[in-house]
Amino acid sequence: MQDVAAALQAVQARIRSAEERFGRAPGSVALLAVTKTRPPEDLRAAFAAGQRAFGENYVSEALGKMGALEDLAIEWHFIGPVQSNKTRPIAERFAWVHSVDREKVARRLAEQRPAGLPPLQVCLEVNVSGEESKSGVAPGELPALARTVVGLPRLRLRGLMAVPAPGEDFELQRQAFRSLRELFEGLRAEGLPLDTLSMGMSGDLEAAVAEGSTLVRVGTAIFGPR
Ligand SMILES: *Cc1c(COP(=O)(O)O)cnc(C)c1O
Repeated sequence: MQDVAAALQAVQARIRSAEERFGRAPGSVALLAVTKTRPPEDLRAAFAAGQRAFGENYVSEALGKMGALEDLAIEWHFIGPVQSNKTRPIAERFAWVHSVDREKVARRLAEQRPAGLPPLQVCLEVNVSGEESKSGVAPGELPALARTVVGLPRLRLRGLMAVPAPGEDFELQRQAFRSLRELFEGLRAEGLPLDTLSMGMSGDLEAAVAEGSTLVRVGTAIFGPR
């Protein structure tokens, strides 16, 4: 197992140096630790090193870890595909969901979010790479979905998320993130109060920071290969 605390520090250093290199305000990019397939002990190690926000992709796996880590004040983010029959545990147990990509799912989350909890923080997942990915709303359908979600009770629309097709070329990475940023700016220009661009992973976080990411989602670079 890799030294989680040291790896976490190295990722924080990458983020800080990208902020500096691309003229971003220091501390303007947050880190979400992505823990799909990782045992609870890995989350415990990252928590002990100061990490508080964790991202999970699969509902049943996440529920198991929540049970094992009840003693820790973790902020749980759901980042995987949302099946419409699995919305209830997401609405009840998570603080954030990054991967809402259709109205039906948004409406169910709004109905199922318990009134005693703060609003569920929502990002809309956008398919910026075209055919290659099946999840994510098409860019052309994003504005209508965003207007609907903003009007739903117990949800707070925070921003956009994307997982572009993987590739090593820095300029191509930037291009995909730029298209997400432009969609984000378009919605803000319409008056939607968005403040979160959830983009960038282990292999492309610098390109994402260059294009305005406010939150990078990193697994492999912290916990080793899956
Ligand atoms: C797995 C995953 C990540 C983290 O990817 P790494 O390459 O391991 O950093 C980020 N976002 C989503 C949606 C993921 O599924």
